[in-house]
Amino acid sequence: MPLDLVTIPCRTDNYAYLIHDATTGATAVVDVPDAVPILAELTARGWRLDDILITHHHDDHIAGVGAVRAATGARVCGALADAHRLPPLDLALTEGDTVAIGAEVARVIDVPGHTIGHIAYHFPASGLVFTGDSLMAAGCGRLFEGTPEMMWASLSKLAALPADTQVYSGHEYTASNIRFALSLEPDNSALMLQSAEVEARRKAGRPTVPSSLSEELATNPFLRAGLPQIKATLGMTDASDAATFAEIRRRKDRF
Ligand code: ZN
Ligand code: FE
Repeated sequence: MPLDLVTIPCRTDNYAYLIHDATTGATAVVDVPDAVPILAELTARGWRLDDILITHHHDDHIAGVGAVRAATGARVCGALADAHRLPPLDLALTEGDTVAIGAEVARVIDVPGHTIGHIAYHFPASGLVFTGDSLMAAGCGRLFEGTPEMMWASLSKLAALPADTQVYSGHEYTASNIRFALSLEPDNSALMLQSAEVEARRKAGRPTVPSSLSEELATNPFLRAGLPQIKATLGMTDASDAATFAEIRRRKDRF
């Protein structure tokens, strides 16, 4: 049975996600920007919470962890590398570790760059990945702590997942990400298509997340840094993929 997934908008532009296995009743939440909307959703659905899956240490992803843990007794899971600055962890995770959510298993992928201890949760059976502020729809997180090389390696790991994987990131930034992407690739037809779709979804008040990995590979300039036409556009024909990624990130920071 596929997992039920509920997207919960929090704060200005954050998303938390409830993942529910109907067979066993097991439920996890990915990131806790705010306790109130998450507890309200659990109550409304009559779901118990078993696990809190943290992507990284920034306040807009963990502010509600303490309150949700106190209210539900859920196990708190997060990156071992950042255990010293995350809420107290019941389960400290690194690359390749697994977390069972009912019958489904999430595999941990280390994706440093935005922060050092940033992890993503991949659910291979359901084809979902929760990426926090690493890979985002048509974009990626800023490099607050890591190097461009680090983030490029992280994005490359995510890019290697099956193409039909649905990518759930931590923010609703897609419209502005697409504006930047179009400034680099004004003739990218997949990007134009995605732009129209995103505009329609936002007008209807719907989230633009998730997107499929195949869509990201066709539109996301940060995943496309290795392509000859992108390097040519930037005048970086002979540059490494990571150096090209670094230049795209620099341009986005100033955009
Ligand atoms: Zn962040
Ligand atoms: Fe964030």
